[in-house]
Amino acid sequence: MQIALKKNVTALWKKILKTNFTDLEELADFLNLSPKKRQFLTQRKDFPLNLPRRLAAKIQKNSLTDPIFQQFVPLDREHDIAKGFVKSPVCDENFQKTPKLLQKYNSRVLFITTSACAMNCRFCFRQNYPYETSSNKRFENELGVIKEDPSIIEVILSGGDPLSLSDDKLQYLIHRLEEIPHVKLLRFHTRFPIGIPERICSSFLSMLEKTSLQVVFVTHINHPKEIDEDVCNALKSVQKLGVTMLNHSVLLKGVNDDFDTLYELCKKLIVTGVTPYYLNQLDPVSGAAHFDVEVKEGIKLVKKLREELPGYAVPTYIQEIPNEKSKTPLHTI
Ligand SMILES: *Cc1c(COP(=O)(O)O)cnc(C)c1O
Ligand code: SF4
Repeated sequence: MQIALKKNVTALWKKILKTNFTDLEELADFLNLSPKKRQFLTQRKDFPLNLPRRLAAKIQKNSLTDPIFQQFVPLDREHDIAKGFVKSPVCDENFQKTPKLLQKYNSRVLFITTSACAMNCRFCFRQNYPYETSSNKRFENELGVIKEDPSIIEVILSGGDPLSLSDDKLQYLIHRLEEIPHVKLLRFHTRFPIGIPERICSSFLSMLEKTSLQVVFVTHINHPKEIDEDVCNALKSVQKLGVTMLNHSVLLKGVNDDFDTLYELCKKLIVTGVTPYYLNQLDPVSGAAHFDVEVKEGIKLVKKLREELPGYAVPTYIQEIPNEKSKTPLHTI
């Protein structure tokens, strides 16, 4: 079946996306940063500032230590060279079935649908990924590979952020995947809802409601400050459709490497109907060494969480080790 790609009308979320802070000076003014503190900011032309207004509005004024500030604002220390921190920490390129399709693990494939994101996280392990920008807009090569392999039961839409795609494009992709009998599950990995919850619009919701695939929606939230009433409502509207709701976090020094923050985060997630899925050890991407937390510290934190929260509220603490057959759990007792 040929499904036409319709011309986009500009959606509200696209207009909001255009108002993101991309200019460091402008953001520094907005945050009332003192001249002394401004000296720590840096331009990263290869991975620039990109921060939705609503996240910027949550940052404490004139602070370099605010957890949202730290996650999104490029600082001098990104230029530090650290042993073991490399351009491609999880070796994604070695697992390409096509430039947009990665398979590391059995039964599922990861679809790099776009290079675009609603925000640039300073610790992003895919910040140097060689995104394919050429033609192939209809993903024919990727769909062909999925179709040929009956062991694939789940397709994970990733990127970049798959919610950067228009609903028309997503709808097209979902229709094409629905035509493949062995594909049963459609997973989204997205950070969009915390930056621009308006992205969870009625046309997106109606698409999830109609699909014959079981939908799994994995958010990426690292700090309780990222969840507010609008974000919570957006996530609940997805959850009400019978979608499996999960969250993965990255353990980040100075952001969430303390018990109280992780406790608050997990509690807020389960109250919103989202199950904490993974707590990722930082992938050692160059420029992010200052976020690294020792594994033994992470293990202690998760152990304490288990003592204080319902079992389902405690994420599995994992690390991605290239060439392993799954993510590697770090707490074995
Ligand atoms: C992390 C990852 C997945 C998903 O792994 P799960 O353990 O199923 O969450 C799939 N493909 C790739 C390439 C990944 O990096
Ligand atoms: S939203 Fe995800 S893919 Fe995009 S910059 Fe952040 S961590 Fe990377």
